[in-house]
Amino acid sequence: MQTVERVAELRAAVARARAAGARIGFVPTMGFLHEGHLALVDEAKRRARFVVMSIFVNPLQFAPTEDLSRYPRDAAGDAAKSKARGVDLLFTPGVDEMYPRERRVDVVPRALHTRWEGSVRPGHFAGVLTVVAKLLNIVQPDVTVFGQKDVQQATLVRAMAEDLDFASEIVVAPTTREADGLAMSSRNSYLGAAERASATVLSRALFAMRDAFRRGEYRVESLITTGRSVLDSERGAAIDYLAITDPATLEPVEDATGDSIAMVAARVGKTRLIDNLVLGG
Ligand code: AMP
Repeated sequence: MQTVERVAELRAAVARARAAGARIGFVPTMGFLHEGHLALVDEAKRRARFVVMSIFVNPLQFAPTEDLSRYPRDAAGDAAKSKARGVDLLFTPGVDEMYPRERRVDVVPRALHTRWEGSVRPGHFAGVLTVVAKLLNIVQPDVTVFGQKDVQQATLVRAMAEDLDFASEIVVAPTTREADGLAMSSRNSYLGAAERASATVLSRALFAMRDAFRRGEYRVESLITTGRSVLDSERGAAIDYLAITDPATLEPVEDATGDSIAMVAARVGKTRLIDNLVLGG
């Protein structure tokens, strides 16, 4: 595995792989890698011979009040894990390499940016889309893999790729979970032992909603009541939102179908966690 920090080096290495006939797969991350990230590498490797992973904690997508400075980092561990999993090229640019001058242009979503995560994190998705647009232009992959865990991000990236004619195929891979159901996340490392136990309430609520759906409950109000009662039973967690949405628009639906997505965000101590589940999945 080759590791590069400069855009020019990245472009040169990708050009060599492409000249050798390889399809290019890409997995963008913020590092502190876990099995969820590495499963995206597996998915990229199934679809492309040469896989690029980026590790960049993007300041643009953090509000001043958020956890940018304490976001977990482990450069050596990340390099070892990505190498072991078969990443061909690791791109670890610094902030000055990605943002060498004052920006004159951002990529700002027109839809969905004030809902769900956007309502709690103003400007977050403009920060995400701006960095993803830059990374896709730098790497120019054939296929890019995102995680279902961040469903609103994946939906907006897909919308950007369609509306702005990005060449890369966008693939969304399933959420990887701990044995007890907790969706893997770099932010789980913030949780103390008691919080870690409380944190399973997000997936427990989603699984309860899915079970009710499987038993034939299609009324959204009733499904939300089911999920909310699980969440309310956990004193250590405070709900930000719980919703059932359309998979294409992420707007709330009136009647649940197998494609509908149950989405939850909650705070456990100072840590904000999100999760989602396809009801018929
Ligand atoms: P992050 O490093 O948190 O920005 O995540 C990088 C990519 O990994 C994004 O596409 C995430 O959706 C994805 N990802 C993070 N956690 C998981 C998980 N538990 N399962 C699947 N994908 C994930």
